Amino acid sequence: MQSFAHEQTSLHAVALLASHWALEVPMSRRGRSKQSESSIPFAVGFRRPTSEDCIKATGFTGTPPQEYQVGDDFFCPIPAPTSIDDWLAQYKETGQSYQCFFRENPWFSQRKRKFIRQTFIGKGKDIREKYPDGKIYLLPLGDFSDDISPSFDRLVEYSSKFFNIPVVTLPTVQLVREDGHVRWLECVESSKSMTSMTSPPSKRRKVLKSKGCRLRCRISEDGDHMQLQVNSILTQLKQVIPDDALCLVALTMTDLYDEAPDLFVAGMAAGQHRVAVFSFCRYDPSISFSSEFWYELSHSKKISKGKRQKLMLQRSCRLLVHETAHLLGVDHCVYYSCCMNGSGHLAEDFRQSMHLCPVDLRKLCHLCGFNISQRYKNLLQFFKDNDLKEEAEWIARRLKFITQ
Ligand SMILES: [Zn+2]
Ligand SMILES: [Zn+2]
Repeated sequence: MQSFAHEQTSLHAVALLASHWALEVPMSRRGRSKQSESSIPFAVGFRRPTSEDCIKATGFTGTPPQEYQVGDDFFCPIPAPTSIDDWLAQYKETGQSYQCFFRENPWFSQRKRKFIRQTFIGKGKDIREKYPDGKIYLLPLGDFSDDISPSFDRLVEYSSKFFNIPVVTLPTVQLVREDGHVRWLECVESSKSMTSMTSPPSKRRKVLKSKGCRLRCRISEDGDHMQLQVNSILTQLKQVIPDDALCLVALTMTDLYDEAPDLFVAGMAAGQHRVAVFSFCRYDPSISFSSEFWYELSHSKKISKGKRQKLMLQRSCRLLVHETAHLLGVDHCVYYSCCMNGSGHLAEDFRQSMHLCPVDLRKLCHLCGFNISQRYKNLLQFFKDNDLKEEAEWIARRLKFITQ
């Protein structure tokens, strides 16, 4: 029962994020954020953890090992809200300590998770031992071109380095606009004859095959802007999740909505089914979005191509690992400034940390079975390769701190 309760909480958080963004983004831009910083309280009932609470939440009695020590300036305390729409001004989060995560997470259970059809070894100590074939699947929903999207290969690389779990890309699903809906088209290898199946992969014929699935959508009157309805995507993802998936995350550059009044939603998860969909559409720094109408946007901001690609990649990487961590049972962080903090609107999302605090690092270290130094080295290489200087500098300092 505890596992079930935990899962509901964590998934609720994902769903909440999506609907919250939809409802609150316009509100924050209508002037409520003009209040002074000091006048913005935390949500009623929220208690900001003390530094002792934070250390206790890592689950160590006595001095934690060096890799979990806070150090001088690595982890800022959880910031106070600066806008009434900030996550912790709106929601009374109780926090999830390492002990709570370990006790309640269904991935640690001795029993195989519901809906999973892959090898399960109950006595395994982490997710990779319990589900030795398990992979994180990413599905490109619509085109990802390097000009206007984050590189899909880099998203795969980042998430595999972040979790130390194999990450696999599924073939792109094409989205084709038809009358009043969007058709989901999968690219599949032709199976017309045994000859084609035994030919080398390069010789096999690829055909676009409609799975007969229609996604709900809404399209602006001028036809320029379209949003897909999240639940119709989740329904389809439940049909196509591979047997050896730990989770399946669809990523798209198409804007999303849930209900008619929404401006947009960032995404939505059906955690019990281990599927989720997220959009990077609103992460493009060169686009201005209306705070009143879902269909109004302008490509107005002047920003260099390099800076635009870097920001898109950084924002998209952070969203992807935050949401995947939710699917793996990690709740929002209330202990430090951390990539698992909740965000109530885009501006709050953009300013959050890329890094895991000691509490969440311990959760994922135990769940995914990684070596912390090696993980930092892998991430350092990624940040250097992609010219994310601030992140690379933080990891380099942290590595030095934990190995001194
Ligand atoms: Zn979240
Ligand atoms: Zn954290």
